[in-house]
Amino acid sequence: ESVYLNGEWLAPEAAKVSVFDRGFLFADGIYEVVPVYQGQPFLLEHHLARLERSLAALAIESAGQQFWLELIDDLLARNQSDNALVYIQVTRGAEAKRSHLPQGPLAPTIFASVSAMPVHWDVPAPAQATLLEDIRWLRCDIKSISLLGNIMLKQQAQACGALEPILHRDGLITEGASSNYFAVKNGELYTAPTDHLILPGITRMWVIELARELGIPVHEQAFAVTDLAQLDELFLTSSSREVQPIGQIDDIIIGQGGCGKVTEQLVHAFHASKRQLSAQ
Ligand code: PLP
Repeated sequence: ESVYLNGEWLAPEAAKVSVFDRGFLFADGIYEVVPVYQGQPFLLEHHLARLERSLAALAIESAGQQFWLELIDDLLARNQSDNALVYIQVTRGAEAKRSHLPQGPLAPTIFASVSAMPVHWDVPAPAQATLLEDIRWLRCDIKSISLLGNIMLKQQAQACGALEPILHRDGLITEGASSNYFAVKNGELYTAPTDHLILPGITRMWVIELARELGIPVHEQAFAVTDLAQLDELFLTSSSREVQPIGQIDDIIIGQGGCGKVTEQLVHAFHASKRQLSAQ
């Protein structure tokens, strides 16, 4: 197992960064997570486009498309992972003096690693979620390594036995702490629009694509908290969880509390696309 750090391939425990790294001092950096199926990165161009957008938002220079492609190729070659998650993190870099404003142009710190991900082909068991107020900042569209809000919310969810907190702001559902959501009502999908309040999930984008192919109407319109009790189905999406049915939010049973028909259809479509895209 070897990880990448600033041009070197190292054993994970040997990879070290400076205490003056702005990632450590200020969480001044971004990250990206790319799922890999059968050795093939899934929807890679979309993940790299989001990586570029995150870097641009922080005015950190990108190492360039070719660099990222080769990095991921090398990571997978060195780590022999068929089904995996690639993690890439870029911080603004290190400088000798701690100062909120960077004192000069820095060489970004680039770290990348791979972890095995068990791939599944079944319909996941419905999980329980909890509704919590979205306490995060107003640039959730940036995949920032500053995840304090997300972590606090996740811990709160775990304490009440929920898999994931589902977040609301001003009466509308935004997303999960590490996932996007889709609500199903009368056979149609509702999900929050991609503005500054949510991370534009690649899985979310892909599920919208699959739904359109299946002729399921999709509304990029946030669902109201007050309508939750009338939902037919609800599911979360993320690179690591793919399509995760939710059977219950706190005391509210969603539909019959199981995995609904539309969700099941999309789970199968998602699996089929995994098989298809990774076979190319
Ligand atoms: N929203 C947040 C806050 C996330 O952290 C994530 C992923 O971890 C997602 C949504 C889902 O994004 P993706 O489907 O690209 O993994």
